[in-house]
Amino acid sequence: MFKINDNYLKLPGSYLFSTIAKKVAAYKAANPDKDVISLGIGDVTQPLAPAVIDALHKAVDEMGKAETFHGYAPDLGYEFLRKAIADNDYKTRGVDIALDEIFVSDGAKSDSGNIVDIFSQDNVIAVTDPVYPVYVDSNAMSGKTGEYLTDKECWSNVVYMPCTAENNFVPELPEKTPDIIYICCPNNPTGTTMTKPELQKWVDYANEKKAVIIYDAAYEAYISEADVPHSIYECDGAKTCAIEMRSFSKNAGFTGTRLGFTVVPKELKSSDGTMLNSLWARRHGTKFNGAPYIIQRAGEAVYSEAGKAQTREQIAYYMNNAKEIRNTLSDMGYTVFGGVNAPYIWLQTPEGMKSWDFFDLLLEKANVVGTPGSGFGPSGEGYFRLTAFGTAENTKKALERIRSL
Ligand code: PLP
Repeated sequence: MFKINDNYLKLPGSYLFSTIAKKVAAYKAANPDKDVISLGIGDVTQPLAPAVIDALHKAVDEMGKAETFHGYAPDLGYEFLRKAIADNDYKTRGVDIALDEIFVSDGAKSDSGNIVDIFSQDNVIAVTDPVYPVYVDSNAMSGKTGEYLTDKECWSNVVYMPCTAENNFVPELPEKTPDIIYICCPNNPTGTTMTKPELQKWVDYANEKKAVIIYDAAYEAYISEADVPHSIYECDGAKTCAIEMRSFSKNAGFTGTRLGFTVVPKELKSSDGTMLNSLWARRHGTKFNGAPYIIQRAGEAVYSEAGKAQTREQIAYYMNNAKEIRNTLSDMGYTVFGGVNAPYIWLQTPEGMKSWDFFDLLLEKANVVGTPGSGFGPSGEGYFRLTAFGTAENTKKALERIRSL
């Protein structure tokens, strides 16, 4: 009889967004006349930019002709896209990334979940708390996290680094030395960021402790303040300790078309000198068969002059929603964070209400869906996330409803 990977059975509950989807579906089924607005899951609402659509059409036509047809993509991704990434995302910021350090993928979720494959299960991992759930769950699936402590709502051998209003959402260096440190900046769910000196401290710490930083920069395009780094490689010494992940989902609306990439510098080595770049190349080549040609062409178009201008407009649209949410909630007396360099607003629930109770209140009395902070980790209790990814109209409507609670 076959045996299953019972690490899956040790995961607490179900995936946060499935739980929310079930609750919302049940509410809608019981109240079919209600118009429910979602400011919950971080999915975009603006259509793909015209430059991206043009590139898709062109690539589709190429696929229909024998002379320009494309089969399997190269392991690392097409050079035209990796060059556009190296030139636009890195060279412009004074960072040299070689083309064979860039691995094109179908998104940052898969990469941040799959990266555990190249590390031993003995590593101690450190995550910010609250945390994007994929980091912890993917480690739990591969058996790295010991017991789930139900009373504390955390895993016994994960170092949780609380990020709350008290420390301005910047984690402090942990007492127990981690081997792998997950940093998401701009942060999901809190929408907050680190300045370059704050991030430099983590890079220095990782180099000193011979730890690896998994740096998730999926929201990089939303950074508006000059002192927030766009890439961890802007920090000195980051190439010997950091892997960076990026996504086309939030900067260009590719949540449905799927595209992302991971940078693994060749300087990043284990204690015996093994290059993590080679391990990830092997993993990528074995278990991933490339983002589609047409999608990689669409990704290339994001870096064209027209593509840059059009996607900048989309980001401005969402950030306008973010400003509206921040300002309106502040006027109502809520304490709010984020929403300046990220499309997420992290608010304190009124009168210390539990996050899930506030979720129920918003759903039932305002017909607005948000995300309970405690779903992202113990330190998220008492907080709540709203996204700026809705339409401007729905965002305004949702805020009016919250005002009339
Ligand atoms: N990383 C973070 C921090 C995210 O919030 C998300 C999506 O919400 C992702 C990665 C997923 O990105 P992708 O759509 O590229 O898989």
